[in-house]
Amino acid sequence: MTERERRAGRLVLKGMILDGSGRDPFSGYVVIERGRIAKVYAEEETAAGYGHLDEAADAPLLDFGSSCLTPGLIDIHLHGGAGADVMDGSASGLIRMLRYYLAHGTTSILATTLTASKPDIDRALAAAFSVRQTERIGQVIQGIHLEGPFLSPKWPGAQHPQWLCNPQTAWLREWTSRFPGFLRMLTLAPELEGAQEAVAFALEQNIIAACGHSDATYDQVRTAIGWGISHAVHCCNAMRPFHHREPGVVGAVLLHDELSTEINVDGYHLHPAAVELIVRLKQDRVCVITDSMRAAGMTDGVYHLAGLEVHVKEGAARFADGTIAGSTIPLAQSVRNLVQTHGKSLPEAVKHATSIPAGIAKLHNKGLLKAGYDADLIVLEPEQLQVKRVMLGGDWFDPESNDFV
Ligand SMILES: [Zn+2]
Repeated sequence: MTERERRAGRLVLKGMILDGSGRDPFSGYVVIERGRIAKVYAEEETAAGYGHLDEAADAPLLDFGSSCLTPGLIDIHLHGGAGADVMDGSASGLIRMLRYYLAHGTTSILATTLTASKPDIDRALAAAFSVRQTERIGQVIQGIHLEGPFLSPKWPGAQHPQWLCNPQTAWLREWTSRFPGFLRMLTLAPELEGAQEAVAFALEQNIIAACGHSDATYDQVRTAIGWGISHAVHCCNAMRPFHHREPGVVGAVLLHDELSTEINVDGYHLHPAAVELIVRLKQDRVCVITDSMRAAGMTDGVYHLAGLEVHVKEGAARFADGTIAGSTIPLAQSVRNLVQTHGKSLPEAVKHATSIPAGIAKLHNKGLLKAGYDADLIVLEPEQLQVKRVMLGGDWFDPESNDFV
């Protein structure tokens, strides 16, 4: 390949760069080459005669002015949206859901399951695996987050109580051999019988072991940290709370650096003071997630969540008894909430939705605007923080035509 041909495959984006690391935005350029980020540099570097622009001189340049270029958003806890749920086991439903989230700036997800019968979980995993293997948009699915059925009957949250059971390593063995490399995260209640064996198997398979929907005592969580549990889902929700004589799961999560965690900032799941407390204590060990369900992107009404009826009113999803049943927002709204409601800076908010979740879920080459990383990025309008453009693996996604351009 000649130098000229090599340069011709490039695209240069100019804008305010928020690289996902938490550093302040700077005016600069992102050079994209064959689906990857080839280079990121500040405007003053070119002004100082570094000559980087010469190198990309033949490449088309798109100038986004004062808009921000940020890494694509990464939601490691997402059940559904646009009327579809991962548990439906429907390829067309998954594609509809992925288009909705991609249009709103989420370029990577862990497709998250719910407690159900084993055949239903089998079907959900098979559908997500085939979409990942066969569809261009399936690249948004980075793997499965298995949330249930190995959870505490004391803290089911929105999980169907009928199918809760003790951890079954044999099932995990079957799923990892049927869907190689696809299980990314396993959430379980570590106090259940069989949990230690399941965690050991998960780590062997490079699956992140997480604590959630758990009635474990503080000491039981400490023991599970010793087994290799490294994460806890939706901090404070569906777990034994803090008590000064029994600090519970919440006390262990807040105190121990070995555990990363998640916050849901939809305005319903956590009091703003709880958000502040968790972020202060966990810092770069907390990511923002949506836990969104099929009503995301839909109107208020009655929906089904793994066999249970959920009422959605003004965007709040609840069972008849008032229990919260997930959210109905895309992660871009969580970023806006972190800034507009929780007073976080934009670089900090973006970091909690990009590089931090990428690190927690071990998604290599994602979550930063940095040379060598995948060209998954969004253009964010700086006032209202609306997502204007979305790029996945170097291709723009057009929400109007619901396809790549
Ligand atoms: Zn949950």
